[in-house]
Amino acid sequence: MAVSTDPDRGLTPAEAAARLRRIGPNELVARRREPWWAEAVEALTEPLVLLLIGVGLLYGVLGELRDAITILFVIVAVAAVEVANEGRAKRAIAALRDLSSPTATLLRNGRAVEVPAAELVPGDLVLLHSGDRVPADLRLVESAALRIDESSLTGESVPSAKEAGRVLPGETELGDRRNMAYAGTVVAAGKGRGVAVATGRSTELGRVAGLAESTREPRTPLQQQMRELSGWLLWLALGFSLLVPLLGVLVARQPLQQMLLTGLSLAFATIPEELPILIAIVLGIGAYRLSQEKAIVKRLRAAETLGSVSAIGTDKTGTLTENRMQVARVLAQDARRLLTLGVLANDAQLSTQEDGAGFLGDPMEVALLEAARREGVSPWEVRRRVAVLEEHPFDDRRRRMSVLFQRDGTRWVAVKGAPEAVLAACSSELVGAALPLEELRRRDLLVAAKGMAAEGLRVLAFAERRLDSDDAGDSGSVLGPGSAVLMSVEQAESQLTFVGLVGLEDPPRAEVPGAVATLQAAGVRVLMLTGDHPATARTIARQVGIPTEPVVVGREMEQLSEGELRDAVGRVSIFARITPEHKLRVVQALAARGEVVAVTGDGVNDAPALREAAIGVAMGQTGTDVAREAADLVLMDDDFATVTSAVREGRKLYENLHKAIRYYLAAKVALIAGSLVAVLAQLPVPFAPVQIIVMELFMDLGASTTFVAERPEGDVMARPPRDPKQPFMDGAMQFGIFAGGLSLAAAVVAAYLWTLSQGLGLVEAQTAAFATWMIGHLALAAHMRSERQPLLRLGLLSNGPYLLWAAGALALLALGIAVPFFQGILHLAPLTASTWAVCLAAGLLAPSWWEVVKTARWRGRSHS
Ligand code: ADP
Ligand code: MG
Repeated sequence: MAVSTDPDRGLTPAEAAARLRRIGPNELVARRREPWWAEAVEALTEPLVLLLIGVGLLYGVLGELRDAITILFVIVAVAAVEVANEGRAKRAIAALRDLSSPTATLLRNGRAVEVPAAELVPGDLVLLHSGDRVPADLRLVESAALRIDESSLTGESVPSAKEAGRVLPGETELGDRRNMAYAGTVVAAGKGRGVAVATGRSTELGRVAGLAESTREPRTPLQQQMRELSGWLLWLALGFSLLVPLLGVLVARQPLQQMLLTGLSLAFATIPEELPILIAIVLGIGAYRLSQEKAIVKRLRAAETLGSVSAIGTDKTGTLTENRMQVARVLAQDARRLLTLGVLANDAQLSTQEDGAGFLGDPMEVALLEAARREGVSPWEVRRRVAVLEEHPFDDRRRRMSVLFQRDGTRWVAVKGAPEAVLAACSSELVGAALPLEELRRRDLLVAAKGMAAEGLRVLAFAERRLDSDDAGDSGSVLGPGSAVLMSVEQAESQLTFVGLVGLEDPPRAEVPGAVATLQAAGVRVLMLTGDHPATARTIARQVGIPTEPVVVGREMEQLSEGELRDAVGRVSIFARITPEHKLRVVQALAARGEVVAVTGDGVNDAPALREAAIGVAMGQTGTDVAREAADLVLMDDDFATVTSAVREGRKLYENLHKAIRYYLAAKVALIAGSLVAVLAQLPVPFAPVQIIVMELFMDLGASTTFVAERPEGDVMARPPRDPKQPFMDGAMQFGIFAGGLSLAAAVVAAYLWTLSQGLGLVEAQTAAFATWMIGHLALAAHMRSERQPLLRLGLLSNGPYLLWAAGALALLALGIAVPFFQGILHLAPLTASTWAVCLAAGLLAPSWWEVVKTARWRGRSHS
């Protein structure tokens, strides 16, 4: 397939846009959105709702037509609330998905840009780095030690070596096409550059993929629990909805027909069909809020777990620090030579314009280019004069990288890396000329490096090697990029001449010390897991408030048994010079101690640790595709402080879920208890069926809007993390549901009995009960807005949706009692002043016992 492009500069943005219009987005499945009415139809055809519509019709037959219409009307309203709520949750989750959709790095018009992978078109020049998911089928034009894991396509689990510029016979098997990189495969190591030849469904992946619709978000453990809970609550609700009318007929001698309608209404009002939806809303909206604080929840279960995180293992560079590196120190006899090496053994890209604005790459690499430019060593000039023959990219094990290049007919190796790693491969030192490197001198250099590190600098060592013609390769052949391997890494990175050290400054982010302190106060340990020098790690740790003693380095970790490591992670907060495998072991050891661990990572090798952790946190900016895919949470700003917001939001979210469900179930308990007490006392049920249905509408609205909007209580980050083993429905929760529900029922029954005792009629008594309910359930919800903080401290007016809901409920009550039309619909009658007083007193006071408890506890808390 011939695809036109400029192999050095890529497409122009205009050409890319034109191709995108012509060819379509680079997606396997065209995204389809359900229209809102489809959801409405779905909601209305749920078995339960169908049953309820049946109830409405039955009403028309058994009761009054007006009641039937009212009831159908309210049922539709309840269904609408449900659709709206589900829609809210779904939209929030879809928005989250869009935020974490994949991107690709391309060269367009000579500049490297990051674009959504969906906008990639054939002809685009794609840059590949280790950890990238290949965004389209590419023909490679450049490669350096490129190895691609094609298991997703071919099932082959060993990454295959790729090489640019090989022209292969047309028949070659997919797995053997070494000059191609295929969409969906993963760059395991090295880097490369390729021209997109196929996108979207034209890719090999598009051809083989079963085109499964985007997978549905699996249920979270809590959703699963709630599903089971609502399963048996359904039977409980049905049981009581049968019991109340049965007793009504047998004990209270009420008319059968009336009791049948009451039973049906009770069933409608007490079946907890909103329970799973409530969770979806609280989780979905909570996760969406988090995304506005730059933390993207990729799996909803993470939103649930965040609140119980008890230990966080974090990277240093870019997470605790700014990642705005600057060369602060150069220790070399020949600084220009060292800076030249810094330009060559360097992964950053130069822009085509020589304006200095156009360095693109890792901040450390860019800092080296900038330092060179400042000192008059032009990166463009340096790179123009050499031909790069081979690169051996950085990896966590070697901790160094090297580039084999040719200049003026001579071949050289340029190396940079961690001082120990580079010095270990050096046999001489550049002091005017290359002099042998004595063991004592090597030790001195390491001490010098440590000294720099102790100042918090990130230290790099540089070395070079001039190759004689017989060192490697056939000297006679014309060497170009992409030709066969010239020298093994081991060969290239040996017998080096040490040139010097560079110290890079990367100060801690200003907000990190505060964030660390907040987490520690919240009972969350912060551990630093870094590949950097222990002295650098310790200095940065001191600056941000992480305990600095003792420090364990990766090599020492390898000596520890599983049990010893488990002890160690209890005491040690800094792990330095570690590899991703070490990180995984730390995560496992912490988990074995019963900690709920969040861990950050960005590299391709961090994926196992990210998966193993309760919460894997990937960096949105510096993170690789692989890390982001393995993670549960993505920090868009790479900032550690965002983790703090995430933990706070996670705790709040879990508490809000508690509050919403406590209220939701308490109201149902109140309704059943109130009705049951009345029939047992040989009285009619305190509510007319229509009233029960209206009450249900307001209960749902209250639960699904109020608690989602609740802000965290003042002490959320002053408490230890939630015990993950604590069940959601713990004792306190059950107590809250019953005590809250029974107090509301007591208020209603009291007002009902009082009105009857005044010799007023049933309609008046039911009106009093209804009024007390409307007032009382607002009061109950207000108290339930907080679990610990007294309402007055929380702020009576601090929850907007609550106020709206309350205003709506009171307005309906006022209309129903005062306006004859609504009186008829809702079966209400005007109340006397004294009845009003009783309703108000009962409704406001009965649920307020909770406030007394909270106030006492809150006082006790601040005195202790
Ligand atoms: P961190 O945990 O701070 O991200 P890394 O694992 O990235 O640490 O780096 C560990 C050490 O490896 C650094 O201190 C540095 O000496 C060296 N190093 C990191 N990146 C490179 C690179 N691109 N080239 C050479 N050396 C590097
Ligand atoms: Mg790093």
